[in-house]
Amino acid sequence: MAQPFIVKPGGKISLNGSGEDFNPEHSPEYTGSYRKKGDTKKYLKKLHKQMLRLQELLYAGGEHAVLIILQGMDTCGKDGTIRKVMAGINVQGCNVVNFKVPTIDESSRDYLWRAHKAVPQRGKIGIFNRSHYEDVLVVRVHDLVQKSVWKQRYQQINDFEKMLVENGTIVLKFFLNISKDEQKERLESRINDPTKHWKITDADIRERAYWDDYMEAYEDVLNNCSTDWAPWYVIPANKKWYRNLVITERVVNTLEDLNMKFPEPDSDVSKLIVE
Ligand code: ADP
Repeated sequence: MAQPFIVKPGGKISLNGSGEDFNPEHSPEYTGSYRKKGDTKKYLKKLHKQMLRLQELLYAGGEHAVLIILQGMDTCGKDGTIRKVMAGINVQGCNVVNFKVPTIDESSRDYLWRAHKAVPQRGKIGIFNRSHYEDVLVVRVHDLVQKSVWKQRYQQINDFEKMLVENGTIVLKFFLNISKDEQKERLESRINDPTKHWKITDADIRERAYWDDYMEAYEDVLNNCSTDWAPWYVIPANKKWYRNLVITERVVNTLEDLNMKFPEPDSDVSKLIVE
């Protein structure tokens, strides 16, 4: 069965609601059969319980790592997703990496160096809050490198992710899709609430002016880098509770599909005696 919200590898999607390649399931406002947060609480709780059990299996087996990549426009909810989706898991088995403007050390190497250095160890879940995709997004929108340079990165990224997958890492990529109106509301609420002032910068307002350029850059990412081995999912993200549910469900289902079992002990446990 087709996975909901996936960008079909080799297909073509549009983020613009009026085009023929637009999938209504990808719409920022979409909430499936749910109407309100309360309708999802019980199911989310069940998913969190499953996630905890699966994380333990992942850690015990030490065969796979899970890399979750979160991308989206400013205020799309990357931080909230990390807080809510990972609410139920053991923090010792999870690591979050934020991708900021590259440091001098990072920018004196190839753009994938810092991403490769940050991938999770086997047995662990790693989350990239932004990622190597910034090198075909902000870098493209602001002409930080020439087109001929960023264009070849799609293939380089696909090859990099394939190598990770072939070496035991599961790669899940989520684009948190909010509407431009929703971003306006979220930015305004940050301006109006002194407890949220720390969350807003001039840059957030400046970047909003490039909305259409970012949408074009995201469409190209989704159409060029959703692969059989590392697909992209477009997550409706205007409603935070639906976003959390969909991502948690995808992570749980992916872990379930690994059919993990606790490893056999090295010795005959029944013969062990605790003095
Ligand atoms: P966030 O917005 O994710 O909460 P920040 O406000 O610190 O975190 O923003 C990080 C900034 O770093 C973003 O504007 C992002 O576009 C920028 N950035 C990340 N990677 C790169 C890169 N490779 N080149 C240039 N800028 C980058």
